[in-house]
Amino acid sequence: MSEADLTEYTAVIAGKKVPAAGWIDVLDPSNGRPFARVARCGEAEVADAVDAARYTYESVWRLAPVAERSGACRRIATAIRSARSELATLETLDTGKPLRQSLVDADVAARYFDFYAGVVEALGGETILHQADRFAFTLREPYGVCGHIIPWNYPLQIAARTVAPALAAGNCCVLKPAEDAPLTSLRLAEIVLEAGLPPGALNVVPGYGEEAGAALAAHPGVDRLAFTGSREIGEAVMSAAARNIVPVTLELGGKSPHIVLPDFDAARAVPLIVDSITEHAGQNCSAGSRLLVHRSVHEELVAELAAAFRALRVGPGIADPDMGPLISAKQRDRVLGYLAEGAGDGVLRAGGAVPEGEVYAGGFYVEPTILDHVKPWHRVFNEEIFGPVLCVSVFDELDEAVELAEHTTYGLAAGVWTSDVTTAHWLAQRLRVGQVFVNNYSAAGGVELPFGGYRRSGIGVEKGVEALREYTRCKTVTIHTPAPA
Ligand code: ADP
Repeated sequence: MSEADLTEYTAVIAGKKVPAAGWIDVLDPSNGRPFARVARCGEAEVADAVDAARYTYESVWRLAPVAERSGACRRIATAIRSARSELATLETLDTGKPLRQSLVDADVAARYFDFYAGVVEALGGETILHQADRFAFTLREPYGVCGHIIPWNYPLQIAARTVAPALAAGNCCVLKPAEDAPLTSLRLAEIVLEAGLPPGALNVVPGYGEEAGAALAAHPGVDRLAFTGSREIGEAVMSAAARNIVPVTLELGGKSPHIVLPDFDAARAVPLIVDSITEHAGQNCSAGSRLLVHRSVHEELVAELAAAFRALRVGPGIADPDMGPLISAKQRDRVLGYLAEGAGDGVLRAGGAVPEGEVYAGGFYVEPTILDHVKPWHRVFNEEIFGPVLCVSVFDELDEAVELAEHTTYGLAAGVWTSDVTTAHWLAQRLRVGQVFVNNYSAAGGVELPFGGYRRSGIGVEKGVEALREYTRCKTVTIHTPAPA
């Protein structure tokens, strides 16, 4: 495709598409070829976006009645549903994920707007017993301008997840999508305008992380930041937030374990464990990337999983296979690097290579892989690989399983597989992770479920009613109420 044939996507600032000063090619991960290009925004565009958000916040959105904000969010949800198949196709071209996963992403994105449209109507402060002649109460107020920096794995879902509660609560937003998958965020900006939100309520500035991302994190006009991505960049964003003394939500990934006890239900567990690490080729912060399994059921379970992994159809997302490619050559090489090292440390039970065949030419594929007998001191046991790699370790005692689970510095999610309700409850309370799934595993769960990491997986909570509160701050008012003279 020549440059002239590439569809161009520009920033959306103050409701307008802004001419681009430079461009970034957007590659199709299934063949490595550019199919679009996106504006390369920098400090100037970010500053304009923050100004636009500030203007809209002060002049319109801050003052809008809650019914108006709620209604607008509902219209966005409806518009996302109408654009479902277009959004899903764009997401699949951009990220490489199987089409049906992108359709789910579009549905979930719509749900976020519906959910926050509903709960914002019930948001309120409290009255507080204080002194006889003082009436004390709290107000929940929006922050003002929120900056959102999101990754490339679930761009549409995560854009909606972070922007919907912020807008519903009365904030205006500047969204920086990842350079590897920016397109549905830009389409969302148009949808939001079509749904009747004021220009400037949602501004989207695509670009490189160290340019547009760093500029947004450091901008003194931003009142609150939300970041989803790697731990390293999370630290940088938090440092920038510290310099401006603004709150920041960090969602930084994990190394989430499945803990499988001897009395587990294999028929239920196997497909869900497979899904948990192969959905979007394992590029999922709450992927179930470690399998901690009791010695008595280890061999049988791993053999079953290995057969299931080998049966998975891998191919271009647009053909809707079981698993698509990774996002980029960089990510594929990173995963292969871990595999080269991990195969020496553990025993390869499935996959481990780049699939061969015409259909994979130029694409960023890695086979779904199982590494068995991985030891806690191995790097593949502790670090987030962000690929379709399940690391298996054996335990004998429950305490040992907990120790293994907590050996990494992360604490995002965990799966528990047992028929014993007491053990399930005990583990759910004991594990230092933000979400526990018992006889069940669904990356991050539904929009209603609060989602936030323990330990180095992050700070703050996304999703659920909790996230709406995070996008408001608390003001206390006391009024002198003496008896009338
Ligand atoms: P991943 O490893 O998933 O690519 P990153 O943490 O590198 O995650 O990227 C997540 C988001 O952070 C992307 O939108 C990226 O452009 C942005 N980003 C990268 N570097 C910086 C930075 N220095 N400051 C702010 N944002 C950044």
